[in-house]
Amino acid sequence: MIDGIKSVHPYLTAGTWEASPLLGFVMAVDQQTGELAGNGSYAAFNGLRFEIRPSSLRPGAVTHCLNGSLHKYHNRGTHNANSFPFAELVKTVQGLEASFSVLPDRATLHGLEIGVNIRLPFSPLRVLKQVICYINKPFTQIDRRNKRLGLVCSLCEYDVKLYDKGAQSGVKTGHLLRLEVKVKKMRFIRGYGIATMADLTEANKVFPLLRLLSDVLRGIVFMDLTLSKQPLNAHEYRQFLILSNPKGWEQMSKYQLSRNRERAELLMCKHSKRQVKPLLFSLLAETWAGLFGMETEAITLQPFHRLDESGERSQPATFSHLEYKGKKVAGIKGEHPQEKTGIYSAKNAQKNGAKTAQRSCKTCRRDISTQHPRSRFCSERLYGSAGKACRNKDSNRRRDLKRIINTAMNTQQFIAITYSVGGDSYTDTLHPSELEVTRNWLDKITRIDLLPTGKGDQLETLTGNKAQAFIQQHINSISK
Ligand SMILES: [Zn+2]
Repeated sequence: MIDGIKSVHPYLTAGTWEASPLLGFVMAVDQQTGELAGNGSYAAFNGLRFEIRPSSLRPGAVTHCLNGSLHKYHNRGTHNANSFPFAELVKTVQGLEASFSVLPDRATLHGLEIGVNIRLPFSPLRVLKQVICYINKPFTQIDRRNKRLGLVCSLCEYDVKLYDKGAQSGVKTGHLLRLEVKVKKMRFIRGYGIATMADLTEANKVFPLLRLLSDVLRGIVFMDLTLSKQPLNAHEYRQFLILSNPKGWEQMSKYQLSRNRERAELLMCKHSKRQVKPLLFSLLAETWAGLFGMETEAITLQPFHRLDESGERSQPATFSHLEYKGKKVAGIKGEHPQEKTGIYSAKNAQKNGAKTAQRSCKTCRRDISTQHPRSRFCSERLYGSAGKACRNKDSNRRRDLKRIINTAMNTQQFIAITYSVGGDSYTDTLHPSELEVTRNWLDKITRIDLLPTGKGDQLETLTGNKAQAFIQQHINSISK
């Protein structure tokens, strides 16, 4: 969602902000010399910085600037590590109007941070370790000693940042990956019709920024450096060496870049048990939809509009050097979720609202629209023991999954875990200790494979009823 902003408020008259009891203005001081810097003053309040500077255009007049994190401000200045739904963003902007005389439709934006906190089933460090470059530029570590604290790739019009939100904020967040695009030149997002703070309160302008985040994610080159080199043929091995080296990408032409991004994805798809990119695409779309109170299915239901074909603007929203041929990468099921992204519209939202209004039992799919809005299963009161069974079946399933994970943890076995996100399946190999065992993730698991630890072991696949029997047997053998 929208996090940081840089804004200018030319309609404010001198003294407006100074009169606020919430703001204590101090003179801006040059950090190095300790001298007063340019007659400006500022007030810091709950993550926002209110600045009053002498106008460079009109002598004697002042310029009002409001910079900082809207998300942090919403959290009373504490952090921006939780989710910041669109509805809260709207309230935050409206609140600034009431508290600080900000007129959103007359407040021009000069910079914007668009970010999303993506919940992962494993440590974000796993993703960070695979990052090679962005298009053809290497990333730099924000903190030299700690990769978790972030990778940044700085371009002329924008920065791309990836980091472990928990490590960076010090807030206990679970496994949270932050993907952020810091817009430094507003012309980078001219195609989205966002110029003032009022535009940030319009869902039909903010929702399509998912496309911007997806485009940026597509431009990031990921390579699993830990993949087993043995199965690679000589050609693939040579490719692997070139594509896993940021220096190699710097030399490539525009045509080579898009070809090689495809090659890197194919190589990962064929040989890596830890490819993260397809999963990140799905989770990004799911998270973004969630911030607008929509289901991922609601996004995929909508027709795919390409912004460039809408004819509503003269300039394309994407930047020319990020061309993508839209070719499907073999082995990755379905289209990339970002290609199904539609434009948020009130009409569609209504349709989706109607869709979510018809709810069904998570276990038996019976229509439970008439039950309490928060109920997820058939009610015991209405359906007796059958209703109770629906609830139990679901909690038993989660309990069994937890047992499998605990078993693997005790035997130090690696597991291949298959998730279903937005209708697509992703398999990932990891040590059970890396796994986040929350209800949300357990619900996404469709299959677990315990991987062989030694020569004699068989690959064990666990699905359906067979899984049940196997788990019991496995648990018995351990408790002996
Ligand atoms: Zn049911």
